[in-house]
Order: sequence, then C-alpha cells, then structure tokens
Amino acid sequence: MSESTAAEVTPVAVVTGASSGIGAATARALASQGFQVVLGARRVDRVQALAAEIGGTGMQLDVTDEESVARFVDGLDSVHVLVNNAGGAKGLDPVATANLDDWRWMWETNVLGTLRMTRALLPALEASGDGLIVTITSVAALEAYDNGAGYTSAKHAQGVLHRTLRYELLGRPIRLTEIAPGMVDTDFSLVRFDGDKERADAVYQGLTPLTADDVAEVIGFVASRPPHVNLDQIVLKPRDQASARRNIKTG
Ligand code: NAP
Repeated sequence: MSESTAAEVTPVAVVTGASSGIGAATARALASQGFQVVLGARRVDRVQALAAEIGGTGMQLDVTDEESVARFVDGLDSVHVLVNNAGGAKGLDPVATANLDDWRWMWETNVLGTLRMTRALLPALEASGDGLIVTITSVAALEAYDNGAGYTSAKHAQGVLHRTLRYELLGRPIRLTEIAPGMVDTDFSLVRFDGDKERADAVYQGLTPLTADDVAEVIGFVASRPPHVNLDQIVLKPRDQASARRNIKTG
C-alpha cells in the first residue's frame, strides 16, 4: 500500500454496550478523535441514533448470543480498537440468598460476552497492525464487598480473562488495557435494582461520582498512545470513594 493510501484509511473502533453510559460516551470520544466507530447494543434504536450523530455505524448486538455476535462482526476485517464495555450488575444479595438467574445474567454478559467479542475480533485486531483491546472491568474486579459476590466474581473473572490475554498475545501487535472504574453515574444502578429509580439515585446521593465522560476521556487517552506504549491497568475512582467498600458516606 502506498503511503498516501495508508494515510486515508480511517481506523475502526468497536464499542459494545454503546446505547448508554460509559459506552455511549466512549463512542463519542473515539469518533471525535477520528475513529470510524461501530456501536453495538441490544437497544438498536439508541445505537443507530448515536451513530447517525457521530458519523458511525450502529448495529444490534447481544453479547450473550453467539449468532448475534457473528452477525455483528461479519465484514469487520480490520479493527484497531475493541472496547469491551457491555455489562453490568443485577441485584445486591448475600450469597446465602443468591438469585441464580441474576448470577447467570452477570456471568453471561460481563465474562462470556467479553470472551465472545474478543475471540471473534482477534483476527481483525491483529490484521490492523496495531490493535487495542480495552476492557471495562471495575473496582469490583479487584475487591470483594458485602452482598456483591455475583458481580464481583463476574468482574474478577472478566479481569483475569483480559489479563491472561496480555500474556497470550505478547509478541503480537495487540495492546491490552483494563479500565477499572469506581462509582460512575450511569444507568448501572437502575439496571442493578431492576428499574427502582429511588434506590438507584440513593447510591449517588451525598457524594460526587464520576461521569461517563470522565471514563471515556481516559479511554480516548489510552487509544491515542503510540503503538509501543501499553497502559496495562487503570483504576479511576471519584475523590469521594477510597475503595469498593469505603466512601465518604460509609466513613
Ligand atoms: P449502563 O448505562 O447500564 O450501560 C450498560 C451497557 O451495556 C448498555 O449500553 C447496555 O445496552 C449494554 N448491555 C447490557 N447487556 C448487554 C448485552 N447482552 N449485549 C450487548 N450490550 C449489553 O451502565 P455503565 O455504567 O455505562 O456500564 C458500562 C460498563 O461499565 C459495564 O461493564 C459495567 O459493569 C462497568 N462499570 C460501571 C460502573 C458504574 O458505577 N457505573 C463502575 C465500574 C464498572 P442494551 O441494554 O441496549 O443492550
């Protein structure tokens, strides 16, 4: 390929769970940095509306469904950035009364969803000559907390999957960055508490959480480093939060 042709190739970034929160903000940030963004989520109307706004492509994607993933990645032959963001929590139950359906949802979405997407796009990431996999885990991937075992175990597993790839892909042109946020004000708690807005809002009252844009800005920084620089793991929390278990409300 001649130099002038290479310069015209627009790098492609895939963002899963781009219909709200961190994923939507990341899609915007990467588009503003010149990426051709491919947005996926189950709520296809939302990803298509955002794609139209930022000049990207919005497609239906359910990361828990093998066929949906296969349809989504079809035709994506060269991908520079994959952001494994689709995920979340369901419930806040102690282990003694754990809801197996909630656990299955969390493991299917956060862990196996990341596995499906990563496995499907590894050839395209390598083909780009400078691939980057960003996985959004959580402080819950680093710590345990009361009543959170369904989510913390899923996020730990997702983190280990991602960190294992750092070894397995050593020597190949793919970088890996784990982003582990603390509290971010998104629909996360609304989903966790099954649409109970009062309970969800209470999580963020009395402290100043991160915004989705705060996290997206960091992902944009990661994606704009030169090919030899690998930011392995970034933990970002609000000033008001010291750990998954302690913040200015808990003391
Ligand atoms: P959010 O606003 O609820 O966004 C979650 C996104 O995941 C939505 O776009 C949702 O889209 C998508 N999603 C869920 N299930 C999916 C599936 N089966 N297939 C495809 N997409 C799916 O919450 P968020 O805070 O931005 O969460 C983004 C990521 O950050 C998650 O992995 C979460 O665990 C992590 N995180 C969040 C926080 C926080 O405090 N907010 C902290 C640390 C880590 P559809 O419903 O349209 O499919």
